[in-house]
Amino acid sequence: MESNKSNTKPHNPSELSDCDCFVCFDIMCEPSRTPCGHYMCLDCLDNVLILKRNCPFCRAEVPEDFNPTLDESKQAEIRTQRPDVFRKRFHEITQQRLKTDTITVLYGNTHKIIENPGDHNSHDWTVFVKLANSKLDIGTYISKVTFMLHTTFPDPRREFYHEPFELQCEGWGVFEIPITIHWQSWLEKQPTKINHMLSFDGNGDRNTVVVKFKKSIYQTMEEERNGDEGETLYE
Ligand SMILES: [Zn+2]
Ligand SMILES: [Zn+2]
Repeated sequence: MESNKSNTKPHNPSELSDCDCFVCFDIMCEPSRTPCGHYMCLDCLDNVLILKRNCPFCRAEVPEDFNPTLDESKQAEIRTQRPDVFRKRFHEITQQRLKTDTITVLYGNTHKIIENPGDHNSHDWTVFVKLANSKLDIGTYISKVTFMLHTTFPDPRREFYHEPFELQCEGWGVFEIPITIHWQSWLEKQPTKINHMLSFDGNGDRNTVVVKFKKSIYQTMEEERNGDEGETLYE
């Protein structure tokens, strides 16, 4: 839920300044730069790239291995230009995060055709589990991922205890892959089970699942950090 929206927020693209994000129209407190040189909020860019690897501004393709990061010099520039609006929006974002008790998991497979496979399999694919928010360290949340391959594969149960939580294979046909995500113990959460249907369409297919935790993950992290001092910052 969003409250206290900055009242200086533009209403249409022609009112946007260099400090505003053309995805959400808000001031960019955490600007990120695409490989094609366009700026938008890091969260907005993350959200856009979940479903499509294209810049929403110019449509340029964004490589699969590109991970958006905070552009600190652009951030400093925006903070200098619009200090009051920046401070206000930054506070809103922080409050929002303290209340977050969900995490979005991105899963799917990439795919390539193997040219001239000869006697071999003609599809090269990689099934993966990632976090939609690339700023988060996946190892802080996920302790293990299990992929169950088709029984015709040798040792079909494949387990990964650290990132990247992904498995590359070659094959000739598609099948459904049961995936089990085990959470770190501090999240007090039973494993999450999902199924991914392999896709040999173009570059593959990706989906998301939103996982809910008992309480705010930011609050829990602060409690862990404060440990036996017995006080939390957010109560
Ligand atoms: Zn934005
Ligand atoms: Zn672009």
